[in-house]
Amino acid sequence: MILTDCTMKDFTDQLKRTKTFAVPFGTVEEHGEHLPLSTDTMVVQEVLKCVDKNVPLFLAPPLHYGICTSTSQHPGTIGIGFDSLRSLIKDIVISSHEKGLRNFLLISGHAGGSHMTAMKEAGEDLIRCLTDVKMAVLSVYDLILKEALDMVETKNDSHAGEIETSLMLYLREELVKGRSKEGYPEFPRPFLVRDKVGYWPGGVWGDPGKAAKEKGEKLFNLAVERVTKLVKDF
Ligand SMILES: [Zn+2]
Repeated sequence: MILTDCTMKDFTDQLKRTKTFAVPFGTVEEHGEHLPLSTDTMVVQEVLKCVDKNVPLFLAPPLHYGICTSTSQHPGTIGIGFDSLRSLIKDIVISSHEKGLRNFLLISGHAGGSHMTAMKEAGEDLIRCLTDVKMAVLSVYDLILKEALDMVETKNDSHAGEIETSLMLYLREELVKGRSKEGYPEFPRPFLVRDKVGYWPGGVWGDPGKAAKEKGEKLFNLAVERVTKLVKDF
């Protein structure tokens, strides 16, 4: 059930069927020249909308902002900080816990390191304080990446490449504006750089040119199947 469509009575009735709260986390982040800034948000939200048809849950509105590091200076990326994300998660979970929800699926369409660490830290703090909750914190790609890399042709595909472009072709083809060139970041690890755009001008990690709607459909269905199973595991 989509939380924001519920009335007070719908909420109370649904709470008798489920105490699971699925919260999608996205970003406003560059995804090359060809994918929309909300790619991460749309992918995870669409996955959860399908999961919601398979198993009873409350589907929260997405958190559209996340932590973006390597893409932070690219045009269009609008990020939030580590503490902001952690605080928001705590506030949302504490408030929904007060309303009777107990199983929390915090799932992200963005798999960046700092972003996932902030989500996990918030989750760890929450399970210490709220002793009657179950909590799963993950990105969609934690569940499908191994198979996804077998399904696509680009080795090491990551950001705005074959996988994400295929998913968006399947979900929102009208928002895919051609294809960016194949590209990879060239950050001089372990050095941190100020000029992030200079080391990664295209903002693409992988080859969008190999993307196809059919691959997107398979990847999407796999994600729905895996997340459905996870909700049942609560
Ligand atoms: Zn993405």
